[in-house]
Amino acid sequence: MKKIVVVGGGAGGLELATKLGRKLGRKKKAQIILVDRNTTHLWKPLLHEIAVGTMDEGNDAVSYRAHAYGNSFHFRIGSMIDIDRENRQVVLAPVLDEEGVEFIPSTRIDYDYLVIALGSMSNDFGTEGVKDHCIFLDSAKQAHRFRNKLLNRFLRIQRVQGESDHVRIAIVGGGATGVELSAELHHAVKEFHHYGFNAITNDHLHVTLVEAGERILPALPERISSAATRELTHIGVQVKTNTMITSASATGLHTKDGETIEADLMVWAAGIKVPDFMANIGGLETNRINQLKVNEKLQTSRDDHIFAIGDCAEFIQEDGKRVPPRAQSAHQMAAVCYDNIVSSLNGKPLKTYHYHDHGSLISLANYSTVGSLMGNLTRGSLFIEGRMARLVYISLYRMHQVAVHGLIKTGLLMFAGKINRWLRPRLKLH
Ligand SMILES: Cc1cc2nc3c(=O)[nH]c(=O)nc-3n(C[C@H](O)[C@H](O)[C@H](O)COP(=O)(O)OP(=O)(O)OC[C@H]3O[C@@H](n4cnc5c(N)ncnc54)[C@H](O)[C@@H]3O)c2cc1C
Repeated sequence: MKKIVVVGGGAGGLELATKLGRKLGRKKKAQIILVDRNTTHLWKPLLHEIAVGTMDEGNDAVSYRAHAYGNSFHFRIGSMIDIDRENRQVVLAPVLDEEGVEFIPSTRIDYDYLVIALGSMSNDFGTEGVKDHCIFLDSAKQAHRFRNKLLNRFLRIQRVQGESDHVRIAIVGGGATGVELSAELHHAVKEFHHYGFNAITNDHLHVTLVEAGERILPALPERISSAATRELTHIGVQVKTNTMITSASATGLHTKDGETIEADLMVWAAGIKVPDFMANIGGLETNRINQLKVNEKLQTSRDDHIFAIGDCAEFIQEDGKRVPPRAQSAHQMAAVCYDNIVSSLNGKPLKTYHYHDHGSLISLANYSTVGSLMGNLTRGSLFIEGRMARLVYISLYRMHQVAVHGLIKTGLLMFAGKINRWLRPRLKLH
């Protein structure tokens, strides 16, 4: 039986492994193995809500092992560190326990077809002090670290320092992550007020959003950046554009112009890269940020048996533009990759991937949602805002849930979510 190995169970990889498991694994037409370094999956665009506590991932995290059992694929925990193309094997690092003691040695998994879907991480561009002093929002663990630090600061204001103090938060990167996090922080403070942190108001929160370019949300139309800037400024976020950070220290961020932005908490969300170990992994072709170069069928440029999807793949479109690192790209690539693996197994011609930009939406917490919708109906870009935009924003996550759980289970999860909003506090406070 052919072995298909998917490395990375994120927005793209989990959807792909689930579909392969249901269609091929269940009928014993192929063996599907998903490898991830974590035991649970969380949809990455939810991380900013987890970081401020407005979302408790308990409800939404998917256990890989249980999901694999229910969808006829195998799950292997482990971090890929290399690919042995000659022997068609994926090499996994030893697995360590919480004390850092090795309990599973380095292992190898055979494959006939391999799909790399291990996403990306924040890129600090080697900026001095960033690794030591800034938090990156790349994983649930890092989001928890931010939340704990935030809670501790609030507790100190509440118990010790009194109302004259404040929490200064600096966020580097005016892309979707930075913008959404800034708004979510202000929204969270309102909620904290209900749960005993009654000395804390939005006046205690000083959020500075720093962007090196001329405007925030540079990848989106100007109208959306202006609307987001207006909304953020209105709720009290200081938006600093044309500001290049050259270093970070324990007390704050230092700019090219010699200014220091003092901060108690610093978040770095300015660009992405694929981890360094991926550079030319197994002799495959990678770009400047270590993305694997893929052809129009999503196969890596030097090996037809290895596909790459999502943030870790560099796909150049006909107009020369790169497919952006977004959840919608990973979702679409997973669908085409599934078809192409099935066709490869059956010796049929493969499909060409075309990226369909359905627009981008930016959630400004409960204040607003702004963005644009693209498509045949809108004949280009249609600016949308408010409740309608919020509904479309949420639907992106629902589409992911439907791909992973199916329609009925997603409906039940939504229902459980509604019940939990009534049963549980609106903030995660521990
Ligand atoms: C805070 C935040 C907000 C975002 N908001 C949006 C949004 O609103 N809309 C949007 O379209 N996009 C958004 N994005 C981007 C979106 O999350 C990514 O584009 C998308 O998740 C990429 O999917 P992926 O499958 O390539 O990788 P991921 O979803 O990142 O999954 C990668 C998986 O690989 C695993 N992995 C990593 N390294 C290894 C290894 N060595 N071995 C084994 N497993 C490994 C990880 O544990 C993870 O499960 C946001 C991102 C962030 C961080």
